[in-house]
Amino acid sequence: DVSLRLTGITKSYNAGTAAAVDVLRGVDVSLTKGEVVALVAPSGAGKSTLLHIAGLLDTPDAGTVEIGGTDVTGAPDRRRTLVRRDEVGFVYQFHHLLPEFSAQENIVLPQLAAGVARRDADARAKELLGIVGIAARADHRPAALSGGEQQRVAFCRALANRPSVLLADEPTGNLDPATSDTVFDALMTLVRETGLSALIATHNMELAAKMDRQLRLDQGVLSPA
Ligand code: ADP
Ligand code: ADP
Repeated sequence: DVSLRLTGITKSYNAGTAAAVDVLRGVDVSLTKGEVVALVAPSGAGKSTLLHIAGLLDTPDAGTVEIGGTDVTGAPDRRRTLVRRDEVGFVYQFHHLLPEFSAQENIVLPQLAAGVARRDADARAKELLGIVGIAARADHRPAALSGGEQQRVAFCRALANRPSVLLADEPTGNLDPATSDTVFDALMTLVRETGLSALIATHNMELAAKMDRQLRLDQGVLSPA
């Protein structure tokens, strides 16, 4: 039961020019359902490129992307947009929450956009905020929340529409070390309780060690870290 499978992914920028870079040179990775994998990579190694390809925000030069058992590599844009909305959750270093809306509303809005009824969306948001331990902050706007709380809300929003895969790019990279640890634990609790598969990029080897598997991206290929 594979949630995400990348096979033979290659990607170059500025091909055929003096500035050509072969960022990915044949990346293979499979995430089984519920598996949490650390993506460890030095800056510039191509981690963001890989996550964007996995999340259908970018296309590879060659190779295939399967999400939930379906090959979506060559799917039309309209279909890719739907798969991205329904099957993939994204988390970045910065929360990108909507400043004019409360934590609760930030988690409800993507559900309404996906056709979920208001009452169900509210219940889902409350449940998720409870799992990450900030139910009491539901009615606050992002500016009234600490950095750690903002990231927790962003995690909940990413999971609001019950994706099958979470892709995270340094999800606690903006936080001080102590906050980073507790917020990362909240993310792991969320991922475990929802049975999600996750590919989580981090520089922090202690956090990487908490995941099921560690992969290193180096010279355009993935290998066990
Ligand atoms: P990371 O996230 O690991 O820091 P990126 O995937 O952002 O790495 O970038 C990998 C390499 O590809 C870097 O050398 C970067 O400069 C280059 N790169 C990324 N995006 C582009 C682009 N749109 N055009 C040209 N080069 C790019
Ligand atoms: P952390 O370092 O854990 O991210 P902070 O020290 O920034 O947290 O905040 C500690 C507490 O104060 C948190 O519960 C946070 O929600 C609250 N808080 C921080 N900034 C504000 C603010 N501008 N308005 C209301 N509450 C705030």
